[in-house]
Amino acid sequence: MKTFDVVVIGAGPAGYIAAIRAAQLGLSTACVEKWKDPSGAYRLGGTCLNVGCIPSKALLESSENYERVRHHFKAHGITATGVKLDLRTMLQRKESIVEKMTSGIAGLFRKNKVAWLQGEGMLVSGGTTWKIQVDSETVEAKNVIIATGSKPRHLPGVAVDNKVICDNEGALAFDSVPERLGIIGAGVIGLELGSVWKRLGSKVQILEALPTFLAAADESIAREAWSIFTRAGLDIELGVTLGEVSQSMKGVKIHYTVADGSSKTLECDRLIVSIGRVPNTDGLGAENVGLKLDSRGFIEVDKNCRTALPGIYAIGDVVRGPMLAHKGEDEGVMVAEIIAGQHGHINYDAIPWVVYTAPEIAWVGKTEQQLKAEGVAYRTGRFPFAYNGRALSREEPEGFVKVLADAATDRVLGVHIIGSIASELVSEAVSAIEFGASSEDIARICHAHPSMSEVMREAALAVDKRALNG
Ligand code: FAD
Repeated sequence: MKTFDVVVIGAGPAGYIAAIRAAQLGLSTACVEKWKDPSGAYRLGGTCLNVGCIPSKALLESSENYERVRHHFKAHGITATGVKLDLRTMLQRKESIVEKMTSGIAGLFRKNKVAWLQGEGMLVSGGTTWKIQVDSETVEAKNVIIATGSKPRHLPGVAVDNKVICDNEGALAFDSVPERLGIIGAGVIGLELGSVWKRLGSKVQILEALPTFLAAADESIAREAWSIFTRAGLDIELGVTLGEVSQSMKGVKIHYTVADGSSKTLECDRLIVSIGRVPNTDGLGAENVGLKLDSRGFIEVDKNCRTALPGIYAIGDVVRGPMLAHKGEDEGVMVAEIIAGQHGHINYDAIPWVVYTAPEIAWVGKTEQQLKAEGVAYRTGRFPFAYNGRALSREEPEGFVKVLADAATDRVLGVHIIGSIASELVSEAVSAIEFGASSEDIARICHAHPSMSEVMREAALAVDKRALNG
């Protein structure tokens, strides 16, 4: 029987990064992965690379270019006629990026001498070492890192065929642009996928059960986003209670009621169900070794991702915390370093969130509503992109940056951005929070001119009411 220092189960961003870091640290490492592509070949990369972050960003970029050429180039004095959508090529481009990235991980495994065990990994027995069955083979591990990720939550009684009623997987591969697209769930995935298909020509209607829009975001950002998205034609209904969902030859009918109690029906050609994701422990054999799950199905871990079983760790979407690829990656590095006897570390207060809509939304740290609830005294600095030369030259003046700093110490507590390339700008704020910077620190750092990042500096200056350009 093959024996390893570390066996990682799952090769999404959490698992494959954990495996590479463990191997870098001199531990003999294997990674088990069961994902197969449509041709039946095994694939690394998990949800993120195959049907999540990467393909969605590829389609967001392509659809944004389509939107720009049709609607935004005019302002630059460029007229484009005869613009056509070639959806097949767009989808092939997305697939080739996925293929490049996933085969890249296979190359990284070879380079770092991580053994890739193809098949489903099941914990069979354990004690001081652990036995894991991978299809017909059994291997032994001194340490196990579980990184089995998450799967889409479906509506009870509503079958997903990924053709007409879809989750993220089907919604990233429509073979034609649906005329009427219904989406259940106005979370990050619903908004991103809705943006893609709206830009490509669908009439998009989104139904959301919560009464508030983007409840996790800072309220001022959520308000601005609501106003921009609805002005741009995204039809979003909040506070709905879903009734019957029925499918016929003509498409899908969704019966629902709204806050005032009135009943409505949404008819669409295709429906995306994006009501969140649930941890995935199917086939893992948790019960064989007494691995504890919490009431929502997540594997129970401490702050260092240790389970109650010696030598067994769990990371990524299958444990508590935000379901974000980079959170899982950082947990993977932390756990590999702990196994190697180092002081692995993750700062859960400095994990950025991004919504890749247009404009983008990104934040790190506390929201204003959280600071109020915690009774923390803070000061706010806010600056709009509309006063920034680079934003104007890019024809992207929408949005703002908001910096929240401790009233007594000026330490940065949260930074909230809505605007073009917010996903890139937020990194400065993550560094500031990680290094315990003050808003004065950001305000005194030289920022390139003209650049969008100057808005970050102006917002930091605005905390002390001394913005220079507005
Ligand atoms: P996963 O990526 O889900 O990987 C788990 C892997 O484990 C899978 O490959 C699975 O096959 C394998 N596995 C499960 N059980 C077994 C078993 N028993 N044996 C062997 N293998 C097994 N996050 C971001 O940070 N940024 C984004 O822009 C973003 N966009 C997204 C867009 C969409 C449409 C979706 C659906 C998600 C997006 N996410 C994004 C979330 C992100 O994809 C997840 O947070 C991330 O993939 C979690 O990584 P993971 O490694 O924990 O799990």
